[in-house]
Amino acid sequence: MKVYGLLTGKKKGYGYFQGDIDNLACLPQRKDDILSAYRHSIDDINERLLALLNERAKTAQLIAQRKAELGLPTFDPQRESQMLEILAQNNQGPFSDNAIKGLFKEIFGATRQLMDASRKENLLVSRRHNQFNTVIDVNGVRLGEGAMAVIAGPCSVESEEQLEGIVAHLAQRGIKIIRGGAFKPRTSPYSFQGLGMPGVRMMRRIADKYGTAMVVEVMEPGLVTEIAQYADILQIGSRNMYNYPLLREIGHCSRPVLLKRHFGATLEELLLSAEYILSEGNPQVILCERGIRTFEPATRSTLDISALPVLRQETHLPLMADVSHAAGRRDLIIPLAQAVQAAGAHALLVEVHSDPANALSDSQQQLSLEEFDKLLAALGR
Ligand code: PEP
Ligand code: MN
Repeated sequence: MKVYGLLTGKKKGYGYFQGDIDNLACLPQRKDDILSAYRHSIDDINERLLALLNERAKTAQLIAQRKAELGLPTFDPQRESQMLEILAQNNQGPFSDNAIKGLFKEIFGATRQLMDASRKENLLVSRRHNQFNTVIDVNGVRLGEGAMAVIAGPCSVESEEQLEGIVAHLAQRGIKIIRGGAFKPRTSPYSFQGLGMPGVRMMRRIADKYGTAMVVEVMEPGLVTEIAQYADILQIGSRNMYNYPLLREIGHCSRPVLLKRHFGATLEELLLSAEYILSEGNPQVILCERGIRTFEPATRSTLDISALPVLRQETHLPLMADVSHAAGRRDLIIPLAQAVQAAGAHALLVEVHSDPANALSDSQQQLSLEEFDKLLAALGR
């Protein structure tokens, strides 16, 4: 029977022995000393390798910092293959050149991961960059602090009468920011596409009449400046979260931005899209969870509630949740809104229509004015 146990050497601490239990007494002491010495050497080498690996990582971090200052990309595949070739040329064995290359590729990979992690922490959107919540003041509503704000309005601006009927009701209920789409990102090109700039101007007139601020979606970089003359908040819709020219353009504008998560985007991708806007000089970004596509057909999208506490840890930006586009059905709006409130959202986005059944878009999910009042009551207002 084989046994493994601790061996205490006379000179240098201890090592491990492996022997036959019946012959323990006969184990040659000298042989164990040699093994123990080798193992000590390995321990020493490990220690030196460890120190060298960390020294290498620290130097790589200095390189990454310098590259960031110079605006150069961190990853340089050419440099990596050069280093591998030099290592193979200098390799004296017993490891084969391929084994050495494999080992060093692991080291390069770990170093890249380290640099990615520190780059993530240094993003403008990251909590580490700004430990206090960003607060965006729109029409006296301080998004990012205090109780959850409610932003409501129709899916689309359809007519003067439709919009005014809705806004009058919302304003009367204390809603200070209204929403409405004038440029609609519709799945079918044959569906109602929105009233365009006349719709934006109509919304401005009605918002001014009732003392509310307004959010409207912008789909094209070329329209950012014009729409920004009317809207208090510019919305980037889910489908455009990956539209980098649009993100950059909106980054040059001084209006707050409501950035919606794409229905197929990770939270990291959402944060990086926001980073595009911040890095162009616009720090006023509100992140909006609006449901992601899953295998579940009961709802239009699946509201990712955990996005809120996760984002709260990762970023200082105000957080919003759009329960209407997530659910796609009005009967779920109240419980989802309560969940969003409990999860700590700074704002709730909800679609409201004076005649949902005849709405030109998203008729299944818009709340009637009466249902909206019930929602407010359920939220404790
Ligand atoms: C909208 O808010 O009008 C809209 C189209 O939403 P989303 O981009 O989230 O689909
Ligand atoms: Mn809609």
